[in-house]
Amino acid sequence: MNKKLVIAIDGPSGSGKSTIARLVAQKLNYTYIDTGAIYRAITYKAMQDGVNFEDEAALVRLANGARIWFRGDRRGSNVYLDGKDVSEKIRTPEVTRNVSYLAALSGVRELMTNLQREMGRNSGVVAEGRDIGTVVFPDADYKFYLDASLEERAQRRYEELVAKGHKVVLGEIADEMHLRNSLDRGRKIAPLKIAQGATIIDTTMMSIKEVVKAVLENVSR
Ligand code: C5P
Repeated sequence: MNKKLVIAIDGPSGSGKSTIARLVAQKLNYTYIDTGAIYRAITYKAMQDGVNFEDEAALVRLANGARIWFRGDRRGSNVYLDGKDVSEKIRTPEVTRNVSYLAALSGVRELMTNLQREMGRNSGVVAEGRDIGTVVFPDADYKFYLDASLEERAQRRYEELVAKGHKVVLGEIADEMHLRNSLDRGRKIAPLKIAQGATIIDTTMMSIKEVVKAVLENVSR
């Protein structure tokens, strides 16, 4: 494949986006952009600095001053915020609880959308998030929408968090996911939705390998 493609993957949390996007990017030797990690990094910074989540101007200032980049390692890519690796710190339940509020702010989104487009310049890209096929890369060569049942998505996240040593309750994770998803779908700016022309893949009963295969088959067609 000679042309440097842009592949957009959207969907709710736990649908398998990150895992699949990372593997597809590795296979194609493309840049992987985890846009959720960008919103999480800003959220983490706001929490560290004690910024009020109601103070939009302060959050936009904070986002404007943040330096975020990815650096690859064997597992995929690590997220750096102002020179420090925050890959683990941005995945705590506390950050997860706050991120959707920050991600609904237009001033923050504008900055982050520009950053994501900048990251995708000059190379093939697999970007995943909520608004990739609709807003960030509306002209993407391929668009996918991954989905799965709430039960399955909650179970996946539960296993992930338990493996990292977090004490969590499955029912609470399902409730939080449901709430976060409603916020992401219901917001005015760049809500989570199926982009026009996107291929929908329900991953509920599929293995990671099967989903990667389905995506790659589409792309090579
Ligand atoms: O994908 P992940 O669960 O890490 O995303 C965390 C949150 O970041 C989402 O729930 C959503 O509120 C926000 N987000 C977004 N737009 C994106 C990616 C993530 O609003 N493109």
